[in-house]
Parts: sequence; structure tokens; C-alpha cells
Amino acid sequence: MSQTQTRMTRQRAVILEELRKTTSHPTADELYGKVRERLPRISLGTVYRNLDFLADSGEIRRLEAAGTTKRFDGNMVDHQHVRCLCCGRIGDVMSPLPAPSVAGMHVPGFVEIRCSRIEFDGICDQCAAARSVSGD
Ligand SMILES: [Zn+2]
Ligand SMILES: [Zn+2]
Repeated sequence: MSQTQTRMTRQRAVILEELRKTTSHPTADELYGKVRERLPRISLGTVYRNLDFLADSGEIRRLEAAGTTKRFDGNMVDHQHVRCLCCGRIGDVMSPLPAPSVAGMHVPGFVEIRCSRIEFDGICDQCAAARSVSGD
């Protein structure tokens, strides 16, 4: 086990803790706000760097939808996501879904296909409520 790889700094531990506390799939900025309540001197850059590190080392998940801000998920249980088309809120789809197999898949220019992602679009309860209020 490599010491440099596994050593958890206090900042990183707090970031990880805060992310695992929430199911809102926060952006780095949102998480920065939370972390700063506990570590007032932490910088946004540090939060970004640590999130990238944690995602690269498989401690957290990075959610990237085309054209949207990167979000993070501390829930490593296998699940999919549904995104509200109105407000961008992310919900967890915990029901097991058959993921497309990537075994034996070949794409020109890629040496390895690792995993697949399914993403759903929907309307969240808050947006649905707001719509019915406005009589839309
Ligand atoms: Zn919504
Ligand atoms: Zn999630």
C-alpha cells in the first residue's frame, strides 16, 4: 500500500464526509460552501483539486452531463441518475438496471472501454408543484 496514495489529509476527509452526507449531488461550489463552515480557510481551488483526486481514485463519482456543471456523488453503491429537465436537480435511480455490456466492445481511437452510464431525464416534484400552482 502506498503511503502517498492513501494518506488522507484533513481537508480531503472533510470534503469526503460532507459529500457522503448529502444526496443532492452538489457541484464543487455548493460543496465548497458546506466545507467552509468547518474549514473556514479552505480555498475553492483546494476543494476542486481534492474532488478530482477523490474521483480519480474511485472514492466518489463525478457526474458529467453534456453542457451542465460537473456534480459529485459520494454514494458508491451502483445506481443511475435522473435529472430534472426544469431545475437540473439529480435524483438517484436505485432499482437495478441492466447496464449495456462493454465486454469486447471496440471503438476506433480508444484502447479500452470501461463502463457505461445510463442517464434519465424527468421532472422533479418541486418543479411539478410549481407548474400546477401557475396553472400551466
Ligand atoms: Zn426540478
Ligand atoms: Zn447518485
